[in-house]
Amino acid sequence: MLSFENTEIAFSSKSDKDLKRAQFLFKMISSNLLVNSGKYLSRFAMKAHLPVAWAVKPTIYRHFVGGETIEECMPNVRVIEKHNVKAILDYSIEGTETLEEINSAMEETLKTVFNAAKDENIPFAVFKPTAFTLETVLEKVRAGEKLSESEKMEANNFRQRVTKLCQTAFDNGVPILIDAEDVAYQNFIDEVVDANMEKFNKEKAIVFNTYQMYRVDRLEVLEKAYNRAVEKGYYLGAKFVRGAYMEKERARAAEGGYADPIHPDKDSTDRAYNAALKFCIERIDRISIFNGTHNEYSSRYMTELMAEHGIKKDDKRCWFSQLYGMSDHISFNLANEGYNVAKYMPFGPVRSVLPYLIRRTEENTSISGQTGRELGLILKEMERRKNGK
Ligand SMILES: Cc1cc2nc3c(=O)[nH]c(=O)nc-3n(C[C@H](O)[C@H](O)[C@H](O)COP(=O)(O)OP(=O)(O)OC[C@H]3O[C@@H](n4cnc5c(N)ncnc54)[C@H](O)[C@@H]3O)c2cc1C
Repeated sequence: MLSFENTEIAFSSKSDKDLKRAQFLFKMISSNLLVNSGKYLSRFAMKAHLPVAWAVKPTIYRHFVGGETIEECMPNVRVIEKHNVKAILDYSIEGTETLEEINSAMEETLKTVFNAAKDENIPFAVFKPTAFTLETVLEKVRAGEKLSESEKMEANNFRQRVTKLCQTAFDNGVPILIDAEDVAYQNFIDEVVDANMEKFNKEKAIVFNTYQMYRVDRLEVLEKAYNRAVEKGYYLGAKFVRGAYMEKERARAAEGGYADPIHPDKDSTDRAYNAALKFCIERIDRISIFNGTHNEYSSRYMTELMAEHGIKKDDKRCWFSQLYGMSDHISFNLANEGYNVAKYMPFGPVRSVLPYLIRRTEENTSISGQTGRELGLILKEMERRKNGK
């Protein structure tokens, strides 16, 4: 019987010392004041080129990030694989501003594909598409401005870079996830990703697009993507998330005077998310599903759908995923039951990973003084260990 309540399984990879460190961290994070001042201080420190690593590295970075390099992540991969939990190494740089930065991101991401190819406990590669073109070009696309000839060429280079990553993934037999970010760039990214699915997903899903289900139009887009896959004879790779940029999207819509692209409330996002899972499980012959969520209901719901449709727990077309350092109660309990589970393990230099870390702290800040979800689970497990139960 699947239960997310079992903290013994959830924290089986954590020593008492690890738990104590995590408890301290989530206690700090749960303070609104601390998170807000920390956020501004770290942004200021980044802009002023002040060192932030000394404060961040041994604390929050260590909890949520695998390391600065692939090699540094590997001992962490080895720890979780003992519990049947796999890892996806995610080179987490955001907002590349020069061609040099793009080339270096390309090189590092290609390395993650080669690394995954030789490690059975790294089942996917992943990248953020916005790392592969200039921020200036993306900004123009976002603002709906006309691109100059050289910018058009750069947009074309983006297409080629994404295709190169997908081709390398295909050649090495490593499925590759393409993250989703701002609504404004997504049409262009969808078009490039769909073309790559058509090219590389003829025998199975290698290229996966991401559907942010907080967007009102995504169920329709998913259905169209499925119809296209059927019509053109390829497999659809579908990664689902609710979406991480709600406030930013709402603010942009208000500012730009266009309709809010996000569902009006959490319930409608939840309904759309679960409907997408159902849609895909019912069409599992054509779709591979990557369920990226910390939501217990959506994780359990997929297990129920799988059972209903006679899909084996370890069917390679069905994956569950949570972020490294979060929701181990879901990951480790699912893995213990025999489901396919992989943690997103970000890596990269401290400065580059800061925006990612700021998002994680914001997510874990307590709402009106309640003990956060993570902290509550850590305290429960500490209590259990103390009582020797
Ligand atoms: C493995 C993995 C990969 C991820 N990759 C991406 C990615 O590529 N792109 C990306 O954008 N995010 C990504 N995320 C983050 C994700 O989008 C969510 O922000 C995060 O996981 C929280 O949502 P949840 O489903 O886990 O949990 P929940 O706590 O159930 O849901 C919280 C989410 O619900 C939505 N929501 C909350 N309040 C409202 C409201 N009032 N109205 C409408 N919607 C609301 C928001 O999307 C919010 O993030 C990823 C997460 C995981 C676990």
